[in-house]
Amino acid sequence: TANVFRTFQVGTGFLKPKRPLHAVNGVTLRLAKGEVLGLVGESGCGKSTLAKMLLGLLPPTSGDILISGQAISGLDRRATARRIQPIFQDPYSSLNPRKTIGDIIQLPLKVHRVGTSAEWPAKVREMMDMVGLPHRYAGNYPSQLSGGQRQRVAIARALIMRPELVICDEPTSALDVSVQSQILNLLLDLQRELGLTYLLISHNLAVVEHMANRVAVMYLGRIVEEAATDQLFDNPQHPYTQALLASVLTPEPGLGVPDANLGATFPNPIDPPSGCTFHPRCPHAMPVCRTIAPKPIANATGHVECHLYDAEMKKAS
Ligand code: SF4
Ligand code: MG
Repeated sequence: TANVFRTFQVGTGFLKPKRPLHAVNGVTLRLAKGEVLGLVGESGCGKSTLAKMLLGLLPPTSGDILISGQAISGLDRRATARRIQPIFQDPYSSLNPRKTIGDIIQLPLKVHRVGTSAEWPAKVREMMDMVGLPHRYAGNYPSQLSGGQRQRVAIARALIMRPELVICDEPTSALDVSVQSQILNLLLDLQRELGLTYLLISHNLAVVEHMANRVAVMYLGRIVEEAATDQLFDNPQHPYTQALLASVLTPEPGLGVPDANLGATFPNPIDPPSGCTFHPRCPHAMPVCRTIAPKPIANATGHVECHLYDAEMKKAS
């Protein structure tokens, strides 16, 4: 569409830490400037792997990462980092405990050689004002701050570069409930004030409904549905989205996937089911779903990957 600002295309990626395997399998995200795109899906669907790939922290196993059609996998990682900045779930582990708050916020300017060192302290103070951190914390260490304050530091550090895209991966999941809404509202205020573009990854559907203009639903490494937020929550098209919203599935990380209602467990991403990868769990599965993968079908506000919306496939079934 006309207001597409950047497209992010990602090839195939596998991440194999100790436990579950997360995969991304050919994903295209289209973002308009100044919008919040929510990314939802169960734990293990590939959300965080996708974020790491976009940030250049994880190379694709095949295919490329393209930003506006330009491959970035072979380019200088620094150039990408300048354009895309992360805000992670746990601000404590993402902040260097031996650096002061002022140094942490300033570091991206230093690394990317933005302006002169004489200008940096003023920029750091400006960012501290923006995120609501008193200047006196500049000489403190992360351990001396609360969880909410540390996340403000992480936000200041991400935004000091005025990135094209901010990837917020579960930005408040590690915080006390009382602090979560403060940080979410801060993120939203900054996004509007500065015209920022966010990819918001969250297992919390209420957070996504509150924050996002559009929502992408991920299942086994694919975006199976993408729509305007109201559209998606009022009238979900994909059977997986319907199940997710009906709380048949639990997108909460660490709680496993109790989906007795759907009759099958979360499949192994390295050996996904044939055809539509959702077919073993889908209450609407047709014979064709077992053999043919659905293609994206465009609709008013996005797309859906499901044979139910493909007249030809329905007829063949
Ligand atoms: Fe269900 Fe078939 Fe649609 Fe897949 S393509 S979601 S199995 S109806
Ligand atoms: Mg995750």
